[in-house]
Amino acid sequence: MKIVFATNNTNKVKEVQALLPETIEIISLQDIGCTEDIPETSPTIEGNALQKAKYVADNYGYNCFADDTGLEVTALNGEPGVLSARYAGETKNADANMHKLLENLDNIENREAQFKTVISLYLAGKYYTFTGICKGEITREKKGDQGFGYDPIFLPEGYTETFAEMPLSLKNKIGHRGKAVQQLIDFLKGYTS
Ligand code: IMP
Repeated sequence: MKIVFATNNTNKVKEVQALLPETIEIISLQDIGCTEDIPETSPTIEGNALQKAKYVADNYGYNCFADDTGLEVTALNGEPGVLSARYAGETKNADANMHKLLENLDNIENREAQFKTVISLYLAGKYYTFTGICKGEITREKKGDQGFGYDPIFLPEGYTETFAEMPLSLKNKIGHRGKAVQQLIDFLKGYTS
């Protein structure tokens, strides 16, 4: 069975393929000749994941899954959420995004936040959703230089290191994306066995 992973990140494709049996072949957008930007115009993380999976299913006729992630901060009513990539503007600059978030949380005691990854899967005419959440808090300053996005200011619950200070293997194990991907993989393994 072939399934498209609606992402332009070839590393993500390889990572998921490595965790699946050979009977499930993960193919990329490039493999199916989809070079246009897939619209992501929904006001929610769930909606964007579904929109991307549906776009490929409708326009290319493949089984497909897509992911979307956001950082939700309690004291900011869930912001930046679906706007996480472009919180500080269309340039999608991680430093500017972190700066804006720290400024908006200045003098706010409640630092509670969570990362949420939603994977939407279209398979044989049906849609399925998998959600991975990592709870934590926003630090008062940046710490660490690994990872990407908001990693230097996100302290996962139960840990003393930010995502940007810990090894990638640990982030993948406890992180939002890893949890959502694991659910997808368990589902696909069960589906084919
Ligand atoms: P995407 O849906 O995976 O493209 O994620 C949207 C945005 O959320 C990214 O541009 C980052 O700003 C942020 N983000 C997603 N995942 C992570 C993560 O694991 N660490 C830090 N920031 C993240």
